[in-house]
Amino acid sequence: MNHHKYAIVGGGMAAHAAVQGIRKVDSAGTIVVFGAEPDGPYRRPPLSKGLWSGDALDSIWYNTKELAELQLGQSIARLLPDKHAVVDASGVEHTYDKLLLAPGARPRNLPFGGDAINYYRTVGDYRRLRDDVDQYQDFALIGGGFIGSEVAAALAMNGRNVTMIFPDAGISSRVLPTDLSSYVGTYFEAKGVKVLAGWSVTDVQRKDDRYLVKASYKEEARDILVDRVVAGIGVVPNVELATEAGIQVDNGIVVDEYLRTTAPDVFAAGDIAAFTNPTLGNRMRVEHEDNAKTMGRVAGQNMAGESIKYDHLPFFYSDLFDLGYEAVGELDSRMETFIDWQEPYKKGVVYYLRDGRVRGVLLWNVWKQVPAARKLIAEPGPFRAEDLRGRLQEEAK
Ligand code: NAP
Repeated sequence: MNHHKYAIVGGGMAAHAAVQGIRKVDSAGTIVVFGAEPDGPYRRPPLSKGLWSGDALDSIWYNTKELAELQLGQSIARLLPDKHAVVDASGVEHTYDKLLLAPGARPRNLPFGGDAINYYRTVGDYRRLRDDVDQYQDFALIGGGFIGSEVAAALAMNGRNVTMIFPDAGISSRVLPTDLSSYVGTYFEAKGVKVLAGWSVTDVQRKDDRYLVKASYKEEARDILVDRVVAGIGVVPNVELATEAGIQVDNGIVVDEYLRTTAPDVFAAGDIAAFTNPTLGNRMRVEHEDNAKTMGRVAGQNMAGESIKYDHLPFFYSDLFDLGYEAVGELDSRMETFIDWQEPYKKGVVYYLRDGRVRGVLLWNVWKQVPAARKLIAEPGPFRAEDLRGRLQEEAK
């Protein structure tokens, strides 16, 4: 009989955290985790960071299988909330008492290039890139966001030639204020990465065992011949299962403060969950590790009978060569920003303001200040930019 007290759709970080959350409360209830990837739950951040600077692949795996039944390579095709059941790709029904939807997101694809492009997201993509790095020298990196910048830095640190190509004005320009984003571009160039900011890739064509990346900028066109092509151009949340089951979806699966969806006994967490943060007061969806882990754990505990509100303001972080940062709240470079440098471009704090409130804080090579940043974001203000000078002080890494 395919009945489980707890079923989890998705085999990522949120799913593993949910299993831990359930086990904190219920040591015996049966749990099944359906993961679409053939690999077991693992920590995703090392794929674009630590695994390129000496960490072993073995270090990424979670011990989920000691706590729950894992069904990997198993896609769930349908959700029948009225029957408390999900149906897998081979038509088998699995019933549950409580269900967590944590299917994450999939990479956005370009309308050309097909399999030639490694849309970098999974450990399978890591293995493919590691293989390529062992054999080839010249790489194109499409996208200037988190994946683009972290993977470009990782490849350059491993002695490969990298050309980054993206339509935005600068690296991470949606997040970083303009002059900081320009500084990062110059810094990458100094590390040997070619940065084609403002350029759009129009085609990727095979040329023997290499690839021709066609790019354009206004009237100008350029062909870039490389060995391999990697892309990180954003992700699309996997909300289809929920939508087809009649669950409310609005830029993600909508959850209440206890992470319940609009279907009874169905919870959601991680990249796909649209939650209202009480500090910021608006509904948001966050595609970062801390959110996946903290939200997953709370969802698990609530599935097992607790009533914990998810009021956490998640942080995120990045490492780019010798640069690193932590950030919390809403970071949108279109907001008013105030940069309090201790050492220009090397160490400082960026405050993001709207309507007299601090909505986000970027701690640029400044460490151990995330809790203080959260407190500041919770303050009603009103703040003027200059009030913030010296407000959060660093502790050197
Ligand atoms: P991302 O950070 O949203 O960046 C996407 C980038 O691709 C943006 O620069 C975007 O430019 C660009 N882009 C969009 N369409 C393009 C096109 N047709 N050609 C070239 N560039 C294009 O997404 P990501 O880097 O793919 O990362 C995927 C997910 O993993 C995200 O959710 C991210 O948060 C997560 N992640 C997080 C971390 C971290 O927390 N440190 C690290 C890795 C990955 P526009 O801005 O102009 O659209």
